[in-house]
Amino acid sequence: MRKGRRSLPFSFYLRCGTPGSPILLSMDLLSDLNPRQRDAVTFGEGPLLIVAGVGTGKTTVATRRIAWLIAEKKALPGEILALTFTDRAAAEMEERVDLLVPYGYVEAQIGTFHSFCDRVLRENAILLGLPPDYRILSEAEQAIFLKDHLFDLPLKRFRPLGNPMRHLHALLSLFSRAKDEDVTPAEYLAYAERLRQETRTAHSHTEEGRLRIEEARAQQELAEAYAVYQRLLGTHGFVDFADLIALALRLFREHAAVLARYRERYTYILVDEFQDTNYAQFELLKLLASRRNLTVCGDDDQSIYRFRGAAISNILGFQAAYSDAHLVVLDRNYRSTQAILDSAYRLIQHNNPDRLEVRSQISKRLHTSCAAGRPPQHLHFETLGEECDAVAEAIARRRADESRRWDEFAILVRSNAQAQPFLRSLDLLRIPWRFSGSRGLYDQEEIRSTLAFLRVLADPRDTMSLHCLAASCPYDVPADALAAATGLARRQNKGLLHVLRVAAKTPGFLDIPEEGRERIARLLCDLDAMLPLSTREGTGELLYRYLATRTGMIEQLSNSQSPQDAQRIQNLAKLFAVVERFAHVARYDRVGWFVEYLDALIEAGDNPAVGDAPWDEDAVHVLTIHQAKGLEYPIVFLVALIAGRFPSPHRRDPIPLPDALIKDLASGSADFHRQEERRLFYVAMTRAREDLYLTSALDYGGKRPRKPSLFVSEALDVDVSRQLPQRRSAASRIVRHATMDRPVEAPRPSAPAEGLLTLSHRTIDDYLTCPLKYRYIHVLRVPIRRHHAVVYGNAIHQAIRLHNVSRIAGRETSLADLEAIFRKHWQAEGFLTPEHEAMRLEEGLRALAAFYAYEQVDPGRPAHIERRFSLLTNGVRLVGVFDRIDLRPGPTPAEGTIIDYKTSDVRTEERAAKRAQESLQLALYAVAFRQLFGRAPDAIELRFLTPDVVIGRAVPSERLFARAAASIERAAAGIRAGAFAASPAYRACRHCAYAPICPERRAE
Ligand code: SF4
Repeated sequence: MRKGRRSLPFSFYLRCGTPGSPILLSMDLLSDLNPRQRDAVTFGEGPLLIVAGVGTGKTTVATRRIAWLIAEKKALPGEILALTFTDRAAAEMEERVDLLVPYGYVEAQIGTFHSFCDRVLRENAILLGLPPDYRILSEAEQAIFLKDHLFDLPLKRFRPLGNPMRHLHALLSLFSRAKDEDVTPAEYLAYAERLRQETRTAHSHTEEGRLRIEEARAQQELAEAYAVYQRLLGTHGFVDFADLIALALRLFREHAAVLARYRERYTYILVDEFQDTNYAQFELLKLLASRRNLTVCGDDDQSIYRFRGAAISNILGFQAAYSDAHLVVLDRNYRSTQAILDSAYRLIQHNNPDRLEVRSQISKRLHTSCAAGRPPQHLHFETLGEECDAVAEAIARRRADESRRWDEFAILVRSNAQAQPFLRSLDLLRIPWRFSGSRGLYDQEEIRSTLAFLRVLADPRDTMSLHCLAASCPYDVPADALAAATGLARRQNKGLLHVLRVAAKTPGFLDIPEEGRERIARLLCDLDAMLPLSTREGTGELLYRYLATRTGMIEQLSNSQSPQDAQRIQNLAKLFAVVERFAHVARYDRVGWFVEYLDALIEAGDNPAVGDAPWDEDAVHVLTIHQAKGLEYPIVFLVALIAGRFPSPHRRDPIPLPDALIKDLASGSADFHRQEERRLFYVAMTRAREDLYLTSALDYGGKRPRKPSLFVSEALDVDVSRQLPQRRSAASRIVRHATMDRPVEAPRPSAPAEGLLTLSHRTIDDYLTCPLKYRYIHVLRVPIRRHHAVVYGNAIHQAIRLHNVSRIAGRETSLADLEAIFRKHWQAEGFLTPEHEAMRLEEGLRALAAFYAYEQVDPGRPAHIERRFSLLTNGVRLVGVFDRIDLRPGPTPAEGTIIDYKTSDVRTEERAAKRAQESLQLALYAVAFRQLFGRAPDAIELRFLTPDVVIGRAVPSERLFARAAASIERAAAGIRAGAFAASPAYRACRHCAYAPICPERRAE
């Protein structure tokens, strides 16, 4: 797999000029671009629409434009706002800009629409009556929230008493859709009222009149429910994802001064993947871009996120909104053969005239810089099984014949559910595969058994969970013993737990062999040890105790070299994340309530993606087309292409937003749905670089034979509906039913041996402390029990953050505000006893009081709070966030101090100064400061809240800079080499959170 990006010339990584100055000349930025790319990058002021076909270097152009604006001094980095959609895309854009503009300090705001709006809202929460630390509800939590408040909503027909939950999801998607379309509750209510007025004259004795009256009442109910839902969210300090955009819009519309501030701040705005914006997001852009320096990059033919609210009319109508927009069409493709591009182009033209090509009278036919290549092939089979086997065989054959790697092949499916038979065929040929981003965390074996354990603790009479737990690793109670015990329990109407207790104590009971009896006894022993704790400890602690201490599962998986175990430990880490999220929302964090929460999540459709194992797998990629967007592979199999599945059937929203409220009017029709599916097919085809196979079969298990997808005919320009299937031998059809384990060919552990390595002070410090610790934390992401010091430190930092952010915005916070934030972020986790927790809480409040008192007299004023930096040094991208930088007025230039807050116990100024002098973190930050300001900071400072404020200051010396450089180099070399052998040392091991599971720990 390779992301479609062109590497930069080496000169881009070289340093020249003085520290703190941009190293790139605008000439360098342009030298490897084609004329149209250059035109887009160097366009001056005003609106710019970059229509970028697949593989034409869109992200390259977007990032070069940012760098060019800075290099040409058209804008300061902080005046540029670059927005995209996914965290992955934003991170990639940020990394690329970091490479181009290595100031050591990147002020350009690059992020997703949601993260940008979240930041704006937190900065101005008070104006909207929101708490600054409001919580964003995930989709599943939204469903739980609505379920909990269903009877607070003025619903009748949409909450049938026989099944009150029936319309829950439909209501949520209606509310979300309304926000995407920038429909406020007030607007919806006004519409409903209009309908009511219009039906006053309707006759209820006619069918039409009855329908109109009925519709008006339904809309009234929905509009009122929407308004109450929004009110309830606000009352509880919650917002949902769609709210982030909707509330930012409201803020800007209602507070002109705030809008003016952001307009002033961002002189250039750039949006990547503009075709994925929804109506509300475009409105937001129009409001912000008062100087009209709005650059949007996109491709209408790749708009595939209608289900997420994307409004294709945004890109189709950009020139209507900005009639003087400069238009650049990028049509030189650097990815695929001409044969693949021509075929994809043939297909997508069936969407005419609803395409930019027709609307704007431009040519969007792509011309390749690669070879002409072979036209895509269509392979049609009798059965799905034969189709799957043929795909697997073709992969195996081409890999052997052409000495390819497995990861040069990809199988793309329309939906996750279609992947399974293809995976099985790959298994039959022992071909390693990787099914990317598949959901189903809760279905993984290790998660199922862990959840069974929690369920049994929550309710020991839960026979099914007890059965599942007993049958799973680490107990593996034999199946016949379990069957006998379950049967007896049922016959005697007793609990399974009771029967197992008798079995554990009675040799020969139910003919259970001795080994089985011992296993049962072990299970009961664990349960008996954990049950009393379940009422005293939070879910995370309990779970950790069970997995780490009782069963040793975390230790065993973490120290295994098997990739499957690496995957398992990551899955467990994800489950711990769910538990942690629960701890933040739960009023009472105990296992019984967690099980209820989890059941509600599952019922709401939540089933997160499984952990992403950190292995550089040479494996065939199997993924959905949506997941494949932005990726490319040499050889692609686009499979299961049959009518009825691709295009998928059109389903209208169960409770649609009324047409009168929809601004993206093209969106509702069946034809529009087919166009969207065609674009999806187009995206899938253009993932292939060298060869593309389109496959289908006659028999997918239904009654009727299936026809190949209409899109295959459109792409190949032949009628494939009557194509006869290829026949395969009877023997091969039988062999495929054999049972087969997954291939044993182990993927290799990954290490970014070449290319850019991103490090932070934390990763460097962890690696230098102990490479094995680094592996536990950053490679395997082994879950650990949160230490009470982390809980304490986090709560203090949140309060300090509020204080500093407010101060920089010119607002003062009271001590009571700080205490409230501190208490809100407090978690009863990791403390030795309730007394310990109470004392620590008390200490935290005293520390805050001391901090507050100090701040009242401190002459220093923060110039920067929580500012991100990124700098390049010897192939390493060093990233970090300054807690606080003070620039004190003084001799020119102003005196600069880097300040970091600590909660560790340091009581004297001498010790504090020593800590500041020795701090690797501050040394690395001093390097970043020097890059940013072109000179070293005057001081580096640690402020310990212990609970008094104890300040340690040091003046950075050349030795400190040399130490920082050597540390970066040493950590980078080790990580690149994949050298993760433990370096146990008494002090390091004593403070290491992984000591309980580490076989190399040093006790003394
Ligand atoms: S316990 Fe010691 S040897 Fe083991 S990971 Fe931690 S620091 Fe390394």
